[in-house]
Amino acid sequence: MIRELYEKAGILHGHYCPGLAIGVRAGFEANRILEIESRGHHLYCIAEGRACHLDGVQMAFGATMGNGNLELKDMGKSAFNFYDRHSGKSVRLILRVLPDDMSRDEMKIFILEAPFDEVFIRSETSLAAPPDVYKPVGSGKCSVCGESCKEPYLRFLNGALVCLACEEKFR
Ligand SMILES: [Zn+2]
Ligand SMILES: [Zn+2]
Repeated sequence: MIRELYEKAGILHGHYCPGLAIGVRAGFEANRILEIESRGHHLYCIAEGRACHLDGVQMAFGATMGNGNLELKDMGKSAFNFYDRHSGKSVRLILRVLPDDMSRDEMKIFILEAPFDEVFIRSETSLAAPPDVYKPVGSGKCSVCGESCKEPYLRFLNGALVCLACEEKFR
């Protein structure tokens, strides 16, 4: 099961590395701890570092940049806050300092298969996830460049609707 997720994640990520394994294992364990039964907008993740692990989390937990449920607060850590906004449950997982006497290949296997407590420290989340209130928004047309743009990103400038890029040029 976890090997399969790791295989799939590597297709997205472009290579197989310990970082990818960290994300896959974290997402996999979050599913178990939070007792996730179905995927959807109720799932949310705040990752605390921009690195290879993000693609593993996206594949194993299903909160992605595309579905809007993955957020990055880059503090350079291999730490992840997972939320189920249906049940209200959440958990934070941070990678332990791993033994430094392993090859890269050994490390990948260790991260995927060693007992949970040897890979992660589990704690409560301190960050809040935004509420699950997905609403589709309409689009409008910028009166300067003519490009279509989501309404919340259009601004009034001298009585005309303009996009953020055009607004900047007229400042
Ligand atoms: Zn990588
Ligand atoms: Zn424009």
